[in-house]
Amino acid sequence: MFTFLGTSAGEQFPGVWCNCHNCQRARQWGGRNIRRNSCAAVGERTLIDFGPAIPIQAEAAGISLPQVETLLVTHAHEDHWHPWYLMWRRFPAEQTATPQGHEFGPLFTKPPHLTIYGNEAVLQSVERVLGDDFSDYHLSVEMVFPWKRYETKDLAFIPIPANHDPKQSCFNYIIEYEGRSILYASDTGWFLPETQEFLKQFCFDLVVMEGTFGFNDSYDVSAPGHLNFHANRRAHRWMQENSMLQDDCVFAITHTGPHHAQPYDVAAPILDSWGLTLAYDGMQVDMS
Ligand SMILES: [Zn+2]
Ligand SMILES: [Zn+2]
Repeated sequence: MFTFLGTSAGEQFPGVWCNCHNCQRARQWGGRNIRRNSCAAVGERTLIDFGPAIPIQAEAAGISLPQVETLLVTHAHEDHWHPWYLMWRRFPAEQTATPQGHEFGPLFTKPPHLTIYGNEAVLQSVERVLGDDFSDYHLSVEMVFPWKRYETKDLAFIPIPANHDPKQSCFNYIIEYEGRSILYASDTGWFLPETQEFLKQFCFDLVVMEGTFGFNDSYDVSAPGHLNFHANRRAHRWMQENSMLQDDCVFAITHTGPHHAQPYDVAAPILDSWGLTLAYDGMQVDMS
């Protein structure tokens, strides 16, 4: 199962401090119109991104964070990566698993080892929170490089360069899970030429693409940054024309901001008529 834990852009939907028409309607209507920072779960042991509301998002979707063993981080922007929570994993060797009531430990069960895959900025941010010895936290950080294939217990993945922020290596991920191929492209502007060429060898069962700027067609998607729904539609067509999508492929749009698209209830039917699925928090795509 692929689970969307969050589907909004940085400011969330409704925007945390915004009271515009879209944000007001989203608050009023609730349900799928309320969307938190973009992140996802592949099965029950792998997360893509780890934002500020991750415990609430995981619990809402029935994902148990203590079971998570793999974390793929796209980039270190704060809406995707909130390493502060890692400090609560501290379980030193002398810690007892049967608390007597006087311990201070933040947890009383030793968590399974967590491997965090990400860029240099991700590694540095973990060191800022935990120092340089992670052993009491039962985790490791592996810096990843584009085009290389990595394998975990549950899946394989290939980081590809995103067109997002020149200040750090931002990644999108191609994921092979239970014989299915997934493209997770958030955050990113339009694919770089080498990425576009590389993608042609795949045939995806699920494409997740960001649409931060919604229906705003004056936004330049070719610059490093974000995409809009028009670019999502163009990508969908390009992939169809190049036989890169399975017949039953779900082409889902995530990371949408409240100021260039209406709330879910209004925007989703429009995207649907374009062959695109507007993702919502808690949406699941069956991968079996
Ligand atoms: Zn973002
Ligand atoms: Zn970003």
